Amino acid sequence: MFEKVLIANRGEIAVRVLRACKEMGIQTVAIYSSADKNAMHVKLADESVCIGPASSLKSYLNIPAIISACEVSGADAVHPGYGFLSENFGFVEKLEAHNIKFIGPKSEHIKMMGDKILAKESARNLGLPTIPGSSGEIKNAKEAITVANELGYPVIIKASSGGGGRGMVKVFRKEDMDESLKKASTEAEKSFNDGRVYIEKYLQNPKHIEIQIIGDEYNNIVHLGERDCSMQRRNQKLIEETPSVVIDDDKRNEICNLTINSLKTMGYCNAGTVEYLYENGNFYFMEMNTRLQVEHPVSEEIYNFDLVKEQINVAAKYKLSSDQKKLKRNGHSIECRINAEDPNTFTPSPGLIKNYHAPSGPGVRVDSNCYSGLEISPYYDSLIAKLIVYDIDRNSCIQRLKRALDEFVIDGIKTTIPFFQEIITQKDFLNGSYDINWLEKYKEAN
Ligand code: ADP
Repeated sequence: MFEKVLIANRGEIAVRVLRACKEMGIQTVAIYSSADKNAMHVKLADESVCIGPASSLKSYLNIPAIISACEVSGADAVHPGYGFLSENFGFVEKLEAHNIKFIGPKSEHIKMMGDKILAKESARNLGLPTIPGSSGEIKNAKEAITVANELGYPVIIKASSGGGGRGMVKVFRKEDMDESLKKASTEAEKSFNDGRVYIEKYLQNPKHIEIQIIGDEYNNIVHLGERDCSMQRRNQKLIEETPSVVIDDDKRNEICNLTINSLKTMGYCNAGTVEYLYENGNFYFMEMNTRLQVEHPVSEEIYNFDLVKEQINVAAKYKLSSDQKKLKRNGHSIECRINAEDPNTFTPSPGLIKNYHAPSGPGVRVDSNCYSGLEISPYYDSLIAKLIVYDIDRNSCIQRLKRALDEFVIDGIKTTIPFFQEIITQKDFLNGSYDINWLEKYKEAN
């Protein structure tokens, strides 16, 4: 087993990984920017190394500084969390060159799935159902119009290196194609330094359903069922739950087995999530995240399985601790992403947390880096806490979520707590009939 793990991240996920390491008896090294010197992950780690100023580019994305921090501290492995360098294959290759283990998949799989055009082609070759669309990169409006005519409008232009919903433009008619293509490509170039885009059919009312998997280095892979992440704003997830009300046992077995078999063919190891859109009973591969995801705790809750510890175990070349038969699903779990944002406009609301009280009691888990007196800095993602509740069924889980949200106190900054309190009382949420566009329509009408 590893002796010392460096956590190349910040915020709630750095704290989450730290906790797993501590429970496994592994020493921890935190890295931090000068804006984060009072952060919770720094306070909890055995050692910490400042790796640069506030700007992410100069700190949490600064590969030479992070490698130096590993060498100075003597860390033998790195957990990347999510975001930042978690899907950067160049980082993985550099760590390998320095004999430091990356707690995640192989660099070739990160590279393949990080390029959405290549990922889609690979998924198709592996036998996964994909969304109808262009066979690769779209170079000009003429080509785009030909493809769109074949698919039928509306279509969606997507960035090959896309993430966080950027570089994505819907097109409803031929006349808008030229301008939309320029917009998507410029945004992609600006955000990802890669202007390549592709086109696919725009599905009108799908659900976002994703499958959590984890594999070891001996080609054993298990799944932890599905997550329904359809409650989204601007293509970004806000509430995640498992199981999904629209997936029955047969559907679940079908898509999970198909997913696992494809990944076994690839020789995939460590944690990953395959994201699908689900419409009229059909799944369509969208992308694969070759890392731990923000919403992993809901799967952990219903399978009673620690994904982070398992990531560390398999990276240290142990076999998976469980096989599929032993993994039993129980109850229901829902996560709300508590962001430091105005609950109506979702504009960031950094500042000082004057008073912080997290809910607790049966079935309530809060993954957070907050405490009273912490200054939420404007430099990073606005996610400050994840409220995860568990109960025996969906109805009791929602009741528990309601009481936990009511108990949550974060004074001094605005948060999305009031937004969740409102949404979870809506009829459509209560009966599970919401798709990826529901929230946008709800916001327009209210
Ligand atoms: P990103 O990596 O930027 O998050 P994804 O490919 O995961 O991009 O898509 C994010 C979200 O965009 C999806 O959850 C879905 O809401 C929407 N989306 C993507 N592709 C389509 C499509 N073909 N039709 C309808 N919605 C889509």
